[in-house]
Amino acid sequence: MVDLRNLTLPEMTEFVKSLGEPAFRAKQVFGWIYKGITDFRGMKNLPEVFRLKLSEVSYIGRLEALDEQVSKSDGTRKFLFGLSDGNAVESVFMKYKYGNSICLSSQAGCRMGCRFCASTRAGLVRNLTAGEIISQLLEAEALAGEKINHIVVMGTGEPFDNYENLARFTRIATDSAGRGMSMRNITVSTCGIVPAIERFGEDFPQVNLAVSLHGATDEVRGSMMPVNERWPVAELIAACRSYTEKTRRRITFEYTLVNGVNDSDRDAEKLCRLLRGMLCHVNLIPLNRVDGTGFDTVSRKRAAEFKEILEKSGIPATVRRELGADIDGACGQLRLNNIKKSKANN
Ligand code: SAH
Repeated sequence: MVDLRNLTLPEMTEFVKSLGEPAFRAKQVFGWIYKGITDFRGMKNLPEVFRLKLSEVSYIGRLEALDEQVSKSDGTRKFLFGLSDGNAVESVFMKYKYGNSICLSSQAGCRMGCRFCASTRAGLVRNLTAGEIISQLLEAEALAGEKINHIVVMGTGEPFDNYENLARFTRIATDSAGRGMSMRNITVSTCGIVPAIERFGEDFPQVNLAVSLHGATDEVRGSMMPVNERWPVAELIAACRSYTEKTRRRITFEYTLVNGVNDSDRDAEKLCRLLRGMLCHVNLIPLNRVDGTGFDTVSRKRAAEFKEILEKSGIPATVRRELGADIDGACGQLRLNNIKKSKANN
C-alpha cells in the first residue's frame, strides 16, 4: 500500500499512470489531498472505478492526535501525534501577527545529543517519511480549524540527518498543484551538518536556513553540542559564509542562552567577531529548562543586554518571544513525558 501523502506530484503521476489512468488524474488527486480531503469519496471529480482502484492500492496516511494542549494566553497549540507504528512526534501551532506558523518534527527522536535538549534524550528511533512530516501540518490545520502559512522545521530531530525525506517534503509542500507553500515561508534548522548546508543551498536556495550555533568557540559550543567535534566552529562558519555568498540569503543563527555557559559579555563579543560582515541575524533563545540536564536559563534582562552588545556591533538580533508559556513542556518535552509514561506502564 502506498501512502499518497508521501508522493511528490511527479511520483503521483507515475503512480497513477501505473494504474492505467491518464496523467492529469494525478494532479486532481494531489489537489484534493492538499485541500485536506482524507477520504477517496471526497474526491468528487474522479470516476468511481478509479476511486475504488486507488483505495485498493493506496491510502491517505493520517496521524492520530494523542494529546493537545492549548495556551489560553496566546493560542499556541502543542500536539502529540501518534504514528502508525506506535511512535509519537510533537508539533506546535503558533499564532503570529503575520499569520499562523507550525513547528514540525523531522525524526522520531534524534541522535545529535545536544546536552540541553529534551528531544535527543532517548536517542533516535527513526526518520519520519515526507508524508509523516507534511501530515503534521495537515492534521494541525484540521484540528485548529485554521490555515497555516509558515513552516519551521525545528521540532524533534535533525532535518539534515533525514535529508532525502526533508527534500521530498519540501517539494510536496511547495508544489503549486497542492499547497503551493512559498519556499520563503519555510525555515529549516540544523545543528550544523556542514556538507548538508552546501547541498541545501544548491537544492533549495529559496528556503530559509537556520543554524544552531549556541557558542562562538569550540570550547563553549563543544561543551553542549557533540556535533561540534565532527564539524568545529571554523568549518561551520566557513560553510555558512559560503552559503550566504552563493544564495544571497540571510542565515539565522540560533543562540540558546545558558546561564554561566555562553551568556557573558565576553561570549557576546566573541560572537560579534565570529559573525562580523556576514549576512545574518541572531535569534537569542533563553534556555527552556529540561530536568536532569543541569543547565539553567537566563533572565530576560541578561538576554536583552546580550542582544544590545550584538546590535552595537551591527549584528541584527532578536530575543525569541516565549509562546505557550502556560502549557506543559517546551521543545520535545511532551514526547519525552509520553515515552516515560509508556515505560512506566509496561
Ligand atoms: N536539530 C535541529 C532542529 C531542532 S532543535 C537543530 O538543532 O537546529 C530547534 C532549536 O531549539 C535548536 O536551535 C536547538 O538547539 C534549540 N533547543 C533545543 N532544546 C532547547 C532548550 N531546552 N531550550 C532552548 N532551545 C533549545
